[in-house]
Amino acid sequence: MRSISRREILQYASALMAWSAAGACRARIVTTPKFAANPFTLGIASGDPLPDGIVLWTRLAPEPLAGGGMPAEAVDVKWELAADDRMKQVVRRGTAQARPELGHAVHVDVRGLEPGRPYFYRFNAGAHATAIGRTKTAPAANVMADKLRLAFASCQHWEQGYFTAYDHMVREDLDLVVHLGDYIYEGGPRPNTVRAHNGPEIMTLDDYRNRYALYRGDAMLRAAHEAFPFIVTWDDHEVDNDYADDHPEDDQTRDAFLTRRAHAYQAYFEHMPLRAAARPKASSMQLYRRLAFGQLADFLVLDTRQYRTDQPCGKNRAPLCEGALDPKGTILGAAQERWMTDALDTSPSRWNVIAQQVLMAEVDFAPGPDRQYSMDKWDAYQACSRRVHKFLAERKPSNPIVLTGDIHTSWVNDLKADYRDAKSEIIGTEFVGTSITSGGDGQPMTPAAEAFLPENPHVRFYNAQRGYVSCTVTPTRWQSDYRIVPFVRKPGAPIETAGSFVVEHGKPGAQRA
Ligand code: FE
Ligand code: CA
Repeated sequence: MRSISRREILQYASALMAWSAAGACRARIVTTPKFAANPFTLGIASGDPLPDGIVLWTRLAPEPLAGGGMPAEAVDVKWELAADDRMKQVVRRGTAQARPELGHAVHVDVRGLEPGRPYFYRFNAGAHATAIGRTKTAPAANVMADKLRLAFASCQHWEQGYFTAYDHMVREDLDLVVHLGDYIYEGGPRPNTVRAHNGPEIMTLDDYRNRYALYRGDAMLRAAHEAFPFIVTWDDHEVDNDYADDHPEDDQTRDAFLTRRAHAYQAYFEHMPLRAAARPKASSMQLYRRLAFGQLADFLVLDTRQYRTDQPCGKNRAPLCEGALDPKGTILGAAQERWMTDALDTSPSRWNVIAQQVLMAEVDFAPGPDRQYSMDKWDAYQACSRRVHKFLAERKPSNPIVLTGDIHTSWVNDLKADYRDAKSEIIGTEFVGTSITSGGDGQPMTPAAEAFLPENPHVRFYNAQRGYVSCTVTPTRWQSDYRIVPFVRKPGAPIETAGSFVVEHGKPGAQRA
């Protein structure tokens, strides 16, 4: 992992001084707060289930789009967790402090719970209480659970549509939701959208806070968090389009960009149900982590943005240039790559799920004999990609399943030791989920995809509509159902299943269900 430079620490220290000048660091604690308006405007969330624990989240923001509207004081927030949905049998309760240096967010790491069962929770502060949320712990470590139900989603551009997909997701009976990034988008308002971003491209901590608050203003997104625990990771738009480590998209100096990244990471942590281990330090934040669901599934959650080398050969589609073949090029960084392969090598689980951002399977986007690859994906980092593919081929971790977002379309890809050899063995399956809204109303097929798909016989399914993917996992079978909303520019779209694919335990490769 890249170490944090002294300069980054100094930059962040100066940002912190702004808070401490306002008294934040020596804040008095308000135990019985009074609010001019309901402070629970951003809802509640839970996340990162353990066999004995869960993170509960909320944030006090009576003026959500204007920095939150809280004084520079710490405020007591009471929480309770119950065995029943009417909160009669409370099993844990406590008081957390919503502190100004975390935007008055609270992250309660509840422990001592029973494995593999639902729990219910709520917060209150002053005269205000939240709705009752539902969550669920992970199965015990030594248990082969008989079933896991999850959905995964990504890319929810506020301006490009309504989050109708979540309204359908909440009707499913899920153990968890995996979010693969582009939870927010950083840009300013654009013409011809269904609803507008709140202000120009975001840069400051308040900007990022206000943008998360805008997105959480959506009742369907809040309802999804209320209904299920989330496992989250980010992609680029939580900071800046197509950024790579300390390389911005925009014309910013490295110093200015790292300050911006610190603000973006801070706001991300403040709004997500993450453990304290993820709390950012200056412009760094460790988001990659492992979450186990007994012996049934391990989730390795990756961060392919923070440690990657800059995109080679420009940012568009291109033939592989020298930079793409550079042995030092990496999308994971050395520490994360080692951590991932070690985790896969020692995993006791039947299904090894790699939850990450961008296309891992090689994809040639140029019709005909030319080959062109997307420079923002694994293909642009050939050395790292080859090592990971070789690892899967040689070490054969049990049933690798890669979950991918970013590309705003649905795919099912065979992962292959050698994509250019039709006889090369299948070493895993990549399920790529489409966007919740990004890209606006879609269509099942596009002329561009019709032209490049024949170049890529390992792509088993493609669809260019919006939605999410619903998965049913048992010890013998993984099924992914591609859930599609036919439109997002108007509310009220129905849900359909555009395709269902199955991987059987010990038999690499997805088949149509
Ligand atoms: Fe996106
Ligand atoms: Ca070609």
